[in-house]
Amino acid sequence: YVEVVLMKTLVTGGAGFIGSHLVNALISSGNEVTVVDDLSASSTKYLDPKAKFSETDILDVAGLNQSFQESLPDVVFHLAAHASVSESVKHPEYDANINVLGTLNVLEQCKLFGVSRIVFSSTGGALYGEPTYLPADEDHPIHPLSPYGASKFAAEIFIESICELNSISYTILRYGNVYGPRQSPYGEAGVVAIFANALINGESPVIYGDGKHQRDYVYVEDVVNANLLAMESPGNGKFNIGTNLSTSVRQIFDLIASEINSDLPPRYDDERAGDVRKIYLNCDKAFQELNWNPQVAIHNGIKSTVEWMRTQQR
Ligand code: NAD
Repeated sequence: YVEVVLMKTLVTGGAGFIGSHLVNALISSGNEVTVVDDLSASSTKYLDPKAKFSETDILDVAGLNQSFQESLPDVVFHLAAHASVSESVKHPEYDANINVLGTLNVLEQCKLFGVSRIVFSSTGGALYGEPTYLPADEDHPIHPLSPYGASKFAAEIFIESICELNSISYTILRYGNVYGPRQSPYGEAGVVAIFANALINGESPVIYGDGKHQRDYVYVEDVVNANLLAMESPGNGKFNIGTNLSTSVRQIFDLIASEINSDLPPRYDDERAGDVRKIYLNCDKAFQELNWNPQVAIHNGIKSTVEWMRTQQR
């Protein structure tokens, strides 16, 4: 990972897939870390034992206040979110509660405790809708196809406005499809984890649609590095964090099958409503302003993810 200056940090969602990797990186470079997570979509399994842990829902204002009081962070990484597109379609109010009101609660504590910087995990894949041009840059029109995308965008706008009003600096990171070790194979997203888990267990995974949907897959270690660089960058801004490349679902399947040495074919099912057909992200701005560049090519990232998943089966 890149080198960082030592800080007191608080990571919401720090027990989750991306958050737990970020916490490991922050701790290993000597930072103090407090994790705030209600474990609604995770467990303490990947939680770094050197982090202070507060099992708190970001909707619980008193609990959140206590965590901030105890940790007095300089920098807050806000990753806690209800991150399910299909659930957000069924229960948009639940999604908005956590992703919008929860973000407002985090911002309120940042104000109260004089936090100097917030780094927010947003989404590129769910904000731009079906792109009108590719690769989509940060100026691409916003057209979320799901309440999840709408709630993440609402959170972005609140962060911009409240941070500017209170002189808190902020970075918004809009990720592509993040993949890597620790991603749950039981969610609706995370095809790399889902396909790898199925094939390792001798099952044919399902491809929704014709397999030609294309996404920008970015390895979790690269996403962690983007967070670390954002922590040190002086200005405010929003940045796509992807690879400038698109890979189809079928290509992902083939890469995983060849890594596992499996000749099982995939099963095909109906395309899912609201699935963007093709998106990949222009990440030039992150390169120019954060000095961030993805380092892990898709075949290497898949190899590492499959190796990790194999260790989980034993
Ligand atoms: P994750 O579900 O593994 O992590 C989210 C964490 O937040 C979990 O540990 C969960 O328990 C916690 N959480 C949920 N609701 C909470 C609440 N009310 N209070 C406290 N904690 C709560 O998901 P992830 O993939 O690690 O995503 C992290 C962030 O990155 C999210 O904000 C997500 O929107 C964003 N993101 C992820 C991807 C991706 O491909 N994984 C893509 C774009 C954006």
